[in-house]
Amino acid sequence: MTDSESAAARLAMVRDNIALAARSAGRPAAGIDLVAVSKTWPAEAIVPLIAAGQRHFGENRVQEAQAKWPALRAAHPDLVLHLVGQLQSNKAAEAVALVDVIHAVDRPSLVAALAKAMDASGRRPACYLQVNIGDEPQKAGCAIGELPALLAAARDAGLPVVGLMCVPPAGIEAAPFFALLAKQARDHGLPGLSMGMSGDYETAVLLGATVVRVGTALFGSR
Ligand SMILES: *Cc1c(COP(=O)(O)O)cnc(C)c1O
Repeated sequence: MTDSESAAARLAMVRDNIALAARSAGRPAAGIDLVAVSKTWPAEAIVPLIAAGQRHFGENRVQEAQAKWPALRAAHPDLVLHLVGQLQSNKAAEAVALVDVIHAVDRPSLVAALAKAMDASGRRPACYLQVNIGDEPQKAGCAIGELPALLAAARDAGLPVVGLMCVPPAGIEAAPFFALLAKQARDHGLPGLSMGMSGDYETAVLLGATVVRVGTALFGSR
């Protein structure tokens, strides 16, 4: 297979798996956005997926996104760019200028930096609040107990908060963590659920994900 045939085949497989999981859950597959996480991959690896119809892409570092995406976006104005990784407050303005969706808002200082950047630029990327759903000391995300205050701060600051995001603990069954994030989103009246990666996106869809972030299953291992 050529690179573009294999990219199209991998994309079709992931989409089929999402559709199957959605059907099992009695949900419309159209309600689930597949974000192709292209971190570390050059434009040459991304173009075949765009050609195969993929529109949502994700990066985890602002600098890498700035290097890769302006040219791709100029050529394909309908792409939707997501920032899925941790964001430093001093990169907030650059992130707001570049991306359409920010998945890792996890602390009041970042809320303030994003609000300032949005007010200055007039751009308002949709935001997900990241929750440290497994309560892991080394992991990004706000503690579940801090979520009400963070959400209030984000809403007060005028951020367009659309949902919650998590990266569950590695190496153990993700389902309970996805269920817990879904409950938090329900309790706070948030419609969006950004959860599920290459190893567990079908489980995430079964438990209500509205956005799955898939890298390896689409691009190969990094
Ligand atoms: C890299 C990354 C992904 C994609 O991970 P894969 O296992 O390669 O699918 C999803 N979400 C975040 C936050 C990431 O950093």
